[in-house]
Amino acid sequence: MFAQFALHERLLKAVAELNFVEPTPVQAAAIPPALEGKDLRVIAQTGSGKTAAFVLPLLNRLLGDGNSKQRLSIRALILLPTRELAQQTLKEVERFGQFTFLKAGLVTGGEDFKVQAAMMRKIDILIGTPGRLIEHANAGNLPLDEVEVLVFDEADRMLDMGFAEDAQRLAEACGPHQTLLFSATTGGNGLREMVAKVLKDPQHLML
Ligand code: AMP
Repeated sequence: MFAQFALHERLLKAVAELNFVEPTPVQAAAIPPALEGKDLRVIAQTGSGKTAAFVLPLLNRLLGDGNSKQRLSIRALILLPTRELAQQTLKEVERFGQFTFLKAGLVTGGEDFKVQAAMMRKIDILIGTPGRLIEHANAGNLPLDEVEVLVFDEADRMLDMGFAEDAQRLAEACGPHQTLLFSATTGGNGLREMVAKVLKDPQHLML
């Protein structure tokens, strides 16, 4: 049951609304340590419910006691390899966050740069692809110093697409943060190197 997790009422309400009753194995394994603030390195396939496994703890952390006002600074960054995956993830964040004050926005290629820059000043959660985000960082548009949760989803694909350096630069620009890294495969040397660089004393979960 989802109620077994120490999740905020507003999130449990959304989970119930979405008719999620039993957590999937990856959710059961990842949500408790993620809620404790641990870094995680998770190997899980698409379709396993991995999105909720990082979105729920992330929202819970940003909610705090649930009474704080919207802060209008980027406090969570979710990196994905493609625009389609980023769009799907935004939908999930909005579904789980529907009863909260938290706002999420998408930054991928193919959209107006200035519109994105203005939007990024009005959101709590930024979801995007490393290439376009680095362009914003280079233009001085990307304040990440208040990021406290960083997620790499489909990290193996991100590396295959040549985003290793961009993704690591973005991680370095974040404030002190918790990192959750997901991949579908164990990956090769590149992924091992990235895990060593971006994760602190991580818990390893293979589902
Ligand atoms: P994902 O692996 O995150 O792409 O999730 C795959 C699909 O399973 C999505 O449509 C989710 O909405 C759904 N899903 C994830 N977790 C659960 C759950 N605990 N109960 C029911 N559906 C779920």
